[in-house]
Amino acid sequence: MILNWLTDDSTAAAAIKKKELVGPESLRSRLPQSVRDEAVDVSVVKEFLTVPARRAVQQKVAKLKKEPWTCAVCENCVEDVRCIACDLCLQWFHYHCQSISQTPRNDTYFCRSCRRN
Ligand SMILES: [Zn+2]
Ligand SMILES: [Zn+2]
Repeated sequence: MILNWLTDDSTAAAAIKKKELVGPESLRSRLPQSVRDEAVDVSVVKEFLTVPARRAVQQKVAKLKKEPWTCAVCENCVEDVRCIACDLCLQWFHYHCQSISQTPRNDTYFCRSCRRN
């Protein structure tokens, strides 16, 4: 799953099934903000990456950590606006971008795209 954040789905599938290493050219130009979450350890997928790709991922994650969190729908900053994190994809969303007006009662929240899958 973390591998799908770093590269496209078909490259990730080939890496897992055929053990093809993912090179830096196959990495997504912009990684999702999920990779910066403290619960996510990108190093668990390093066996699927070439050495230059590992370095590129580290740089991309370090760069992301310096940016403010943004809403995964509208890409605007989530600070000062009511927002919620999805417990599956770990991305942040504005309440209005998820069409919710109140704090959900459940402790866990799944965003609209995760609920669809
Ligand atoms: Zn938004
Ligand atoms: Zn989600």
